[in-house]
Amino acid sequence: MKNAPTTLRLILGDQLNLKHSWFKTVDENVLFVLMEVRQETDYVKHHLRKVLAFFASMRHFARQLQARGHPVYYLKLDDPANNHSIPENLRHLIEKFSIQHFEYQSPDEYRLDEQLHTFCQTLPISHAVKDSEHFLTSREALRDHFKNKKNYLMESFYRMMRRRYGLLMEGDQPVGGKWNYDVQNRQKYNPRIPVPPPLCFKNPVGPLKEMLQAMRVTTFGTIDSDDLIWPIHREQALELLNYFLKNGFRYFGTFQDAMTRDSWALFHSRLSFALNTKMLHPLEVIEAAIETWQENPTLIELPQIEGFVRQILGWREFMRGVYWAQMPDYATLNFFANDRRLPHFYWDGATKMHCLRMAIQQSLKYAYAHHIQRLMVTGNFALLAGVHPDEVDAWYLGIYIDAIEWVEITNTRGMSQFADGGLVATKPYVASANYLRKMSDYCQSCFYQSEPKYGDRACPFNSLYWAFFQRHRQRLEQNPRLGMMYRLWDRFSKAEQKKLLVQAQYYLDKIEEV
Ligand code: FAD
Repeated sequence: MKNAPTTLRLILGDQLNLKHSWFKTVDENVLFVLMEVRQETDYVKHHLRKVLAFFASMRHFARQLQARGHPVYYLKLDDPANNHSIPENLRHLIEKFSIQHFEYQSPDEYRLDEQLHTFCQTLPISHAVKDSEHFLTSREALRDHFKNKKNYLMESFYRMMRRRYGLLMEGDQPVGGKWNYDVQNRQKYNPRIPVPPPLCFKNPVGPLKEMLQAMRVTTFGTIDSDDLIWPIHREQALELLNYFLKNGFRYFGTFQDAMTRDSWALFHSRLSFALNTKMLHPLEVIEAAIETWQENPTLIELPQIEGFVRQILGWREFMRGVYWAQMPDYATLNFFANDRRLPHFYWDGATKMHCLRMAIQQSLKYAYAHHIQRLMVTGNFALLAGVHPDEVDAWYLGIYIDAIEWVEITNTRGMSQFADGGLVATKPYVASANYLRKMSDYCQSCFYQSEPKYGDRACPFNSLYWAFFQRHRQRLEQNPRLGMMYRLWDRFSKAEQKKLLVQAQYYLDKIEEV
């Protein structure tokens, strides 16, 4: 550095956006800071791969900025000068370099937003908050959109976004005449269609792993070798995007809800880490997908592209809207007053239930499960068993490579656990073994049998499913989408009902052994 910097700019671990306007010109008066801190490694117990992926990506990003001539201060976790608190480290740097102006990009987590806001109130120098230039909706616009609404309908939000961005539109109308092609998607996996092997990078993380061990950072999950399979910089993220568009996209929608023991990623993009760390911009992903579809109209059908666009333009932005409209109260919601602890097998995968074992073991291995495994296997079981949403949230926030609270909590507490009483989902996402048998090949080789509702080897999902509806009758009976369930339940004989409830209670009592 030729001159002493006068401005300090903070880059958080999920703000690795090389295209941000901050980096358009090099200014030697501006010092960028990135820091590895215990505050972030310890606020929840994380998967080892997740911590490694964030730190490896941050280090790479810092090197990229330096190579472009930007002054960068990188604080490693084991640096003796590290206070392990973002505000404390900032205070120290501001003093050390006699900084006159401080800037940060809007954090996506409420926790960090509050912390930095409070920190700035105490600063004797000027400060500014900049947009992260990543999302397709501003926080203010989101707040206005969600204001005074009792239920948040994703579908109307999605249509508004399609219109606003002119994506998959012909004038004011959706391409193909329909907004949503879900009915054509969501098929069971057809084993005659080969699944492309997931593109896995080999990013060496041995020294980083040693540092975490030396610093006694508590993590869980495994990493077989010292190679991290997730993209840690923009070039790899783009490679992953192109790989998906070439190999997985064609069947993305068709098998979006399918599950198979033969593949842990099926036709999913695995782009969530690259997107959530902002290595990729959502619009560039959507536009690249639309271009691929336009160039290959016979190979890639409309339901595939519409399904993909809906996830990113719809669900991803929508969940962020819910988060900013509802936090901080959202993190305390527990509509069903659930209070059970998360069974041990969520942490070690040791259960006789094949579907849970597959979803959990692959999560412990790769820090990844695809959407329907998260929703209809692990989430479904936790809700049927009545696990406290705090426990469920902590698990999802810790285990997944892409878990950042704004998108984790809305999906977990909202969509999956119905803890918001129906703000995000119009009914609880619960299912019996029938659904799992239809959508996966897990049941065929399970210790339990998927059809019986009671008896020695009856799949626990069956009785727990009915016991859930019976337990929450008062809360759910008025839901127009659930009236049918109660009519079905009432048609069971009293003896049948009793058998089901006894069976469910048996599993709940022995939940650590199922
Ligand atoms: P693909 O299936 O290839 O989808 C493409 C992209 O669409 C994803 O990368 C993602 O950016 C976006 N997307 C898809 N569904 C959603 C959704 N429901 N909400 C927001 N974005 C979506 N996603 C996270 O990014 N972080 C989380 O912590 C997270 N926690 C979840 C917890 C639960 C209980 C559930 C049910 C879902 C969760 N999701 C989360 C949403 C979704 O499961 C993941 O985004 C997806 O599995 C990531 O894998 P992929 O990149 O292969 O996705």
